[in-house]
Amino acid sequence: MFDYNEKRRLGIYVHVPFCRSKCAYCDFNSAVCGNAELMKRYVSALISHMSSYRKACDEYSPDTVFIGGGTPTALPREELVRLVKGIKKSFDLTSNAEFTIEANPATVTLPQLKQLRRLGVNRLSMGLQSADNRELKALSRLHDRKQFIESYRMAREAKFDNINIDVMFGIPYQTYDSLLRTLDFVTRLAPEHISLYNLKIEPGTPFFENRDKLRDVCADEDTEYAMYTAAIEFLASRGYAQYEISNFARPGYKCLHNLKYWNCEEYLGFGVSAHSYFNGNRFAFIPDIKKYMLAVEDLSSNIELTSESEQLERRERMGEYIMLRFRLNDGLDPSAFASRFGASFEALYGAKIEKYIKNGFIIRNGNAYALSPGGMFVSNYILSDILEFEDLGAYMGNF
Ligand code: SF4
Repeated sequence: MFDYNEKRRLGIYVHVPFCRSKCAYCDFNSAVCGNAELMKRYVSALISHMSSYRKACDEYSPDTVFIGGGTPTALPREELVRLVKGIKKSFDLTSNAEFTIEANPATVTLPQLKQLRRLGVNRLSMGLQSADNRELKALSRLHDRKQFIESYRMAREAKFDNINIDVMFGIPYQTYDSLLRTLDFVTRLAPEHISLYNLKIEPGTPFFENRDKLRDVCADEDTEYAMYTAAIEFLASRGYAQYEISNFARPGYKCLHNLKYWNCEEYLGFGVSAHSYFNGNRFAFIPDIKKYMLAVEDLSSNIELTSESEQLERRERMGEYIMLRFRLNDGLDPSAFASRFGASFEALYGAKIEKYIKNGFIIRNGNAYALSPGGMFVSNYILSDILEFEDLGAYMGNF
């Protein structure tokens, strides 16, 4: 038996790909599902998949867990409980592990939240997106402002004292003023953490089909830039410090799980399309729900469970590290880069970043280089240029 102090830390991500209905902008791996049997079977597959990693994780003590989706709270309550228990049984979590569940306001109940809290779930991430009912309707969200207030109140009553609220900007009918009204509404609720994402219109979504019409009711890029920089200032004035392109927290409440991604630390993901970085390998599981379940249920089924797998070369690891560190307000410290890769950041990339330092998109933050708010808004472009990638979309997530 290892002492906790000797064990390596790890993040655990679990993907629940079910939703009550599909939002018109969403390109996540999620499907509308009211089939309780299918959800039960999927949870069983997740649990047996996780327990098959018990030996591989013998030397690890995970200190963060994140159940995301999809809509984890769309699972029947007994299945969600079974899933949480299955995670705790499969891994030797640290006693103070951060344990987050994503919740859609339309799918939470007080008994469900109380039970999750009793089981050790200690962080809730709630999707609001906007406090304006017209904007919510345009996004085809299931909830309205009133329902969100009620679900937030229930979360507090269930003793969740670490809550994130997701907000979006650049959504149909939203204006500079209505975004600030949403942020005013959110900060008055006083969550511990706020995520602010820029709506991206992704191929394969109803929004993409209607992109020409949407252009008429969405803010232009200059307005979006003004919205983003104003939001950063507004949130700071209400006590929420930005620590990543899309993330803001009150002191002591940064999301430890997501920080693992940005700090290039190890994590294991379970479920369809879940990604992992484990023992120097990056891999992802297949996106098809039925095939995923069959592959886990019958290891002799010949179904390949892993869809992507790669051992990153040093140059790629450097690129990835730069990309992820520049998401953070702390930025990239050249001495940390040197001790990680045995190479000088300035010698390799100094010429590339010079013009961005001159135009104020990259600033010095102590010893580190970091993106300014303006630089963060166009981070995709800047990092593509520095790293000579054609498209960073897959790496840059929602922003
Ligand atoms: S609830 Fe979330 S995951 Fe489900 S469709 Fe809407 S945005 Fe996508």
